[in-house]
Amino acid sequence: MTNLSIPENDHDLMQLVCEISERYFFAPFCHMCRYNNRLRTSGGRYLLKSHDLEFNLRYAKAYGMPELVATIKHELCHYHLHLSGRGYRHGDRDFMQLLQKVGGARYARPIQLRSRQTPRYEYVCTDCLQTYMRQRRIDTSQYVCGKCHGKLLLKKDHFVNEG
Ligand SMILES: [Zn+2]
Ligand SMILES: [Zn+2]
Repeated sequence: MTNLSIPENDHDLMQLVCEISERYFFAPFCHMCRYNNRLRTSGGRYLLKSHDLEFNLRYAKAYGMPELVATIKHELCHYHLHLSGRGYRHGDRDFMQLLQKVGGARYARPIQLRSRQTPRYEYVCTDCLQTYMRQRRIDTSQYVCGKCHGKLLLKKDHFVNEG
């Protein structure tokens, strides 16, 4: 693979898909592919009517290049089998055999749609300096340090690394 980083635009994505198609399927990819970030549940999809492929850039970025390549292989299995009139569906034997042969992704991994819930408040024990991250404000007159029962002090009350 000449390009080892995730393609940022449709043009570079097309190049990568064509490369993978030639290299693993020994057949050209002769339709269009593009990024479509509205894909919610999967990293990619094959469009039966237009024969185009769509990929999710957020998914690719979340899981990295090897997963994108595996996803492209998966969609190309649908593509090449469908165009040659063979079993292109997930449950078809043709599909499962080709997928295994080229090393395609079996399932799309779940993509985290909501931003990670990061702690927003950082408390520090005034005695032993142990720190605690909490998503909500806590009443420091009621809660004490879990290690030494010392008094807690709010250190940061802003958002920490949100997203
Ligand atoms: Zn599929
Ligand atoms: Zn303490």
